[in-house]
This record gives sequence, C-alpha cells and structure tokens, in this order.
Amino acid sequence: MSASLPPRLAPGATIGMLGAGQLGRMTALAAARLGYRTHVYAPDAAGSPCAQVSAAATIAGWDDLAALERFARSVDAVTLEWENVPVATVEHLRRFTSVNPGPNLLSVAQDRVKEKSFVNALGIATAPWRAAGSADDVARAVAEIGPRCVLKSTRLGYDGKGQARIGEGTDPAEAWAAIGAVDGIVEGFVTFACEVSVIVARGGDGAMVAYPAVENRHKDGILDVTLAPARVAPETAAEAERVARRIAEALDLVGVLAVEMFVTADGAVLVNEMAPRPHNSGHWTMDACAASQFEQLVRAVCGLPLGSVERVADAEMTNLIGEDALRWPELMAEPGARLHLYGKAEARPGRKMGHVTRLLPRT
Ligand code: AMP
Repeated sequence: MSASLPPRLAPGATIGMLGAGQLGRMTALAAARLGYRTHVYAPDAAGSPCAQVSAAATIAGWDDLAALERFARSVDAVTLEWENVPVATVEHLRRFTSVNPGPNLLSVAQDRVKEKSFVNALGIATAPWRAAGSADDVARAVAEIGPRCVLKSTRLGYDGKGQARIGEGTDPAEAWAAIGAVDGIVEGFVTFACEVSVIVARGGDGAMVAYPAVENRHKDGILDVTLAPARVAPETAAEAERVARRIAEALDLVGVLAVEMFVTADGAVLVNEMAPRPHNSGHWTMDACAASQFEQLVRAVCGLPLGSVERVADAEMTNLIGEDALRWPELMAEPGARLHLYGKAEARPGRKMGHVTRLLPRT
C-alpha cells in the first residue's frame, strides 16, 4: 500500500489524530457520527479536549519513535489537527500507515517564508515580504518595503503571537527582539477592506469541494467573529475560492486546507497564510452546512467521497475566548444559539474555550 494515499476505510475503523485540541475534538465527534473511532496522540493529550471524546489516547513525545510505531500500528489512517507536528514525526508514521496531509505540504505550511514563496511561485499575490534573520535584515527589509510593516516569526506563530508591528521610528533591533530574535519575515502592512478565508477539502482521488468565502474579524490578533458568507463582491469571493483551490491542488492536499486572505479596497485578494487542517473560520459549517469541515476531513482521510458543502443557512460564528465562556448559561438559554464548548477546565485570557453559531436566513 502506498503510505500516502488513504485506504478506503469502512465505518468501525480507527482514525489516528495528531494533536489534542478542539479541532481534534470536533473531528473526533464528526468521526463518531459516521461510526469511526479516534485515537489521539500528543504530548499533552491527557484530559485534553480531544481525548475526552476519543476511544484511546497516547501521551508521548513527537520524537518517541517506539510510541509512534505502536500508535501507527493500532490505527487505520492518521491525520492531524496541528500543522506544526514535526515533519520527521509524520515521515516516521508513514512507514506504517497512511498520514494525510503529508510531510511536503506540512513543511511548506510550517514556515512563512516557504509558504509565501510557494504561493508567489503560483502567480498568487501576497503582501511584499523579505526573509529576515537579524536586526540588520529587518532594517534592510523595512527600507525596501516601506515604513509600515509586520515582522513575524517564520515558524510557530499563531493568533498574532510572535509578531511585532513596525512603523515610522520603530527600532528594527527592538522589533526583532520582540519576536524572540528568531528567523522572521517582514511583510508590508496591508490596509485591507476585510479579511476572508476559504476552506477546501480534497480527496486522494483529486476531488475537491470549497465552502464559500467567509469574512473574519479579529480582536487582539485572535479571530472574534466569522460571517458566512463574506459580504464581498461575487467576483472577489470567486477569486478567493480560485486561489484556495489552486493552492490545494498545487500542494496535492489530501484533507482540509484553510487559506486566509486580505481583500483590499479595490477588491484585490492577497494571501496571508494557510493551515492544512480544519480552521476556526470553518466552525460555522457544523451548524449551517450539509457536511462540516470536520466531516470532510474524516471523509478525505478515510478514502470516502467528500460530502456536500451546501449551505442551508447563512451564519455568524462568535468565538468564546477566556472568560466569555462563563456566559454559557445565557447562551444556552438563547433560542437558536448553537453553543459549542471545548471541555477546557481553565478559562485563561486569550484561550479559545468554545464558540457560538447563530443561523441567519440564506442570502
Ligand atoms: P497571522 O498570524 O499572520 O494570521 O496574523 C494575525 C492577524 O494580524 C491577521 O489576521 C491580520 O488581522 C493581522 N495581520 C497579519 N499580517 C498583516 C499584514 N501584513 N498587514 C496587515 N495586517 C496583518
């Protein structure tokens, strides 16, 4: 069997999940609905959102080769909910079972410089950018791109972490220190009209489906609200979808991919970043679509036909961050509010605790 292509797995099979957060949890719930089991593997799996709803959990490191082999041999296919699982881990697992998305795709998605190079090579626009491995590189990049920039760590940033804004008068050395003096990327600051994302799912046979472009509003660098569909011109939505499909195809995706984009005032679409897994901006699909993004992932990695992305309603999804989750009694009492809580014990500031989706008449 090729380790790359998903086998066709009948209900009753076990899906291995790398990563133990809420994305794994919601994938495991979608898997259970279709009769599949989930076995989660992560260093911090104990009592995690995903372990709470999974048939089995392995708590072990990403470099524990023996534990990885035992895990791989105990499941029928492996996927992931965290794109920073080390590539070497995935390569090792692939000696024993199918793992999707695969190592090539992951290595691009884990590194902002590789990601932007890949996207630009496809003829798709991004903000202007330069790689920067020192404070001098940052200064040079700002001189070339313009005074307003964003410096981001190349690897392991999320929710605005590992980022520093640069403006007129910012000391490049301070900005570089602020991201931890690690390899970075300097991007021109985009004055966007709005931010959108498109989620696509693709099977091992190359079949692909795309949910409509949605609009994302951030607060303190964290997604706050997603409006589905995005309130943008139809040509802009179509361009965003074309871009996401093109990237998924070029990466030979098997699974689910989210592409985040900026839309400028004149309707241009610039790719910001991508994530080869279910995405926060796709949570609305659980309540408003025939098949959710999580079900699509299950289908793709089990070698099943993809589900319908038909939207039965428009939707507004609001994240419950930190203490927002304490509002659960009120949200449970609100007719029509679809409440999802992730089973996290401690409501730390900035932590995604759950979300609520409200359905709206279809436009
Ligand atoms: P990221 O982690 O790259 O998704 O960045 C988090 C958020 O910061 C984005 O969703 C934007 O709201 C903002 N942001 C990131 N990069 C830029 C940029 N080049 N120009 C303007 N805003 C940005």
